[in-house]
Amino acid sequence: MFETLRLTRMLYNAGLEQRREAYRKHGKTLSAYDQQRELTALKDACPEYGGVYSHVLQDVFDRLDRAYKSFFSRVKKGAKRAGFPRFKPRQRWDSFKFKQCWDNKKGDWTACGKPVDEGRRINIPKIGAVKIKLHRPLEGKPKSLQIIHDCGQWFAAYVCEVPLAPLPATGSAVGVDVGTTWFAITSDGEFVENPRYLKNGLKNLRVQQRTVSRRKKGSNRRRKAVQQVAKAHRKIRRQRADFHHKTARRLVNEHDLIAHEDLKVSNMVKSNLARSISDVGWASFFEILNAKAASAGRSVIAVNPAYTSQTCRICGHVGKENRVSQSRFLCAQCGHAENADVNAAHNILGRAVPSALNGSGVSHAVV
Ligand SMILES: [Zn+2]
Repeated sequence: MFETLRLTRMLYNAGLEQRREAYRKHGKTLSAYDQQRELTALKDACPEYGGVYSHVLQDVFDRLDRAYKSFFSRVKKGAKRAGFPRFKPRQRWDSFKFKQCWDNKKGDWTACGKPVDEGRRINIPKIGAVKIKLHRPLEGKPKSLQIIHDCGQWFAAYVCEVPLAPLPATGSAVGVDVGTTWFAITSDGEFVENPRYLKNGLKNLRVQQRTVSRRKKGSNRRRKAVQQVAKAHRKIRRQRADFHHKTARRLVNEHDLIAHEDLKVSNMVKSNLARSISDVGWASFFEILNAKAASAGRSVIAVNPAYTSQTCRICGHVGKENRVSQSRFLCAQCGHAENADVNAAHNILGRAVPSALNGSGVSHAVV
């Protein structure tokens, strides 16, 4: 598997070089298909590539193609740093992919990823029957299999096609305001706390990073410390994902409609460093929320957050003076007093409801 990683990474870098050359010398843009057609010739010239399954090699060029496409789309959007596709060093190449696990004609597994030996092993073409721990049974129809190397461990990640599972209507709608002090505040007055273990994990990470910088470059002890940092990162990543999944699951189970602020807009409205850093976490939370909602037949609506924190939800009066402190809201016009974030969550919900009634309340809608 390490050898497959090495060969696919070299192929990626060669493919990138080929594309750059083709453009520089002939002004021509190669497609993934153009490059995939040359694979047979490559295998003749470099027999070691005969030891890698053909779909895995094809996928390398698909990945390169995606890197180019997202580069061009960033250029189109006028991003400041569009980030041209880069050559991959060893640390940035950790997986390979089998794109077809299921034969639709036969209605059975292909050779890729098929469980064998009563589920104790899976079949990985050109590599063999590899022992695995199946953490949970596969659901639905397997589509693809990715083999990932992460901090000294190997993972098999299957993508499966699972039928939608709509939930019964609850008749409830909720607005969610995300913040830095609290992870989220809902219009029902619920305060979702940032879990303490994440804070502890981050503290631990800082200590380990100091250890790395103390140790001599290129030394064995430094390499080990780097590995520790990578493991600490992985742990935080997993804990955060777990927390996101559980929080999103609860919202989706309890409400038919969930409104939140549109983060792309909110970054422009409140340009605040602390917020933009934690926005990274919220973006993946909203992605998880959207996926769960789509599967359950719920609506998630992102609304423009402008002035949601300065508007009185009772009389509609807008003014900075309404926000008497970070947490207190006191309307200068009608005297309505409430927690400022709960008031904002209500306004977010209020903006989503009219569009839901217009019939545009589909998930992923941006108002
Ligand atoms: Zn008011």
